[in-house]
Amino acid sequence: MAGLAAALALAPSFDRVLLLEADTPQDCWQGSAADVAQAPGQPRRGVSQYRFMHALLARGATELEALCPGYLAQLQAAGANMTDYYQDLRFGTPAGPFARVTQSSQPLPIVQASRHLLEHTLRRFVQQHPKVTVMYGAAAAGLVFEGGDSSRRVVGVQLAGGGEVRGDLVVAAAGRRVKLPGWLQAGGWPAAPVTSVSANTAYTTWFLRMPPEVEASLPYS
Ligand SMILES: Cc1cc2nc3c(=O)[nH]c(=O)nc-3n(C[C@H](O)[C@H](O)[C@H](O)COP(=O)(O)OP(=O)(O)OC[C@H]3O[C@@H](n4cnc5c(N)ncnc54)[C@H](O)[C@@H]3O)c2cc1C
Repeated sequence: MAGLAAALALAPSFDRVLLLEADTPQDCWQGSAADVAQAPGQPRRGVSQYRFMHALLARGATELEALCPGYLAQLQAAGANMTDYYQDLRFGTPAGPFARVTQSSQPLPIVQASRHLLEHTLRRFVQQHPKVTVMYGAAAAGLVFEGGDSSRRVVGVQLAGGGEVRGDLVVAAAGRRVKLPGWLQAGGWPAAPVTSVSANTAYTTWFLRMPPEVEASLPYS
């Protein structure tokens, strides 16, 4: 998501943008969330949560709509739930339900959709952009540097399969597996300080098919 959004945000300022994506598209990427849910194996090696429900929070939705006018309407047309955090969501824990905000001056919009739908819809804007090219199956394996100690700068990316691509600006958007700190160290920069905090939280989701009468009786989405 960050890579797709960064490509669209940079495109007005550059002659062309090249997006490197390690994964190769599978047929189900072009289909619905149901196609992805039923696809055998792991539909997206680089994004383990690709099948899962995501909540696109209000600020993210606002920013993506500004970047890609019509994004939210396309999500809704494809079946995304446009909900209000206060009215439509409930959180339960073994210790009981979360307290709810029952009075709010304005709604807090949340788009509920699979990660696939959020990403696939954004990808269409990228694919239609005349300045952006996507290279699939192209894993970045390091950076290309130029210059001596005091003037050393990043001028490109090494590809895992060999070869390199050059660019005026390199953006690393490989998610939590990003290897940027090590790559910069390989170029002579000192290790970045790391602060690590464990949230001590595990996360599991699964698909449930509710009888229609049960779904209709729920006071939330
Ligand atoms: C079960 C689960 C549920 C979640 N629910 C929510 C939610 O409800 N709302 C929310 O906001 N967030 C949620 N998140 C978090 C959210 O999915 C991540 O924060 C988000 O995916 C991060 O986006 P990203 O673009 O930074 O990285 P990623 O989504 O990880 O994308 C990284 C991309 O880089 C590619 N890549 C990786 N390495 C390389 C390489 N070397 N070269 C080229 N390409 C590479 C990958 O294939 C991938 O396409 C959830 C996460 C999980 C695990």
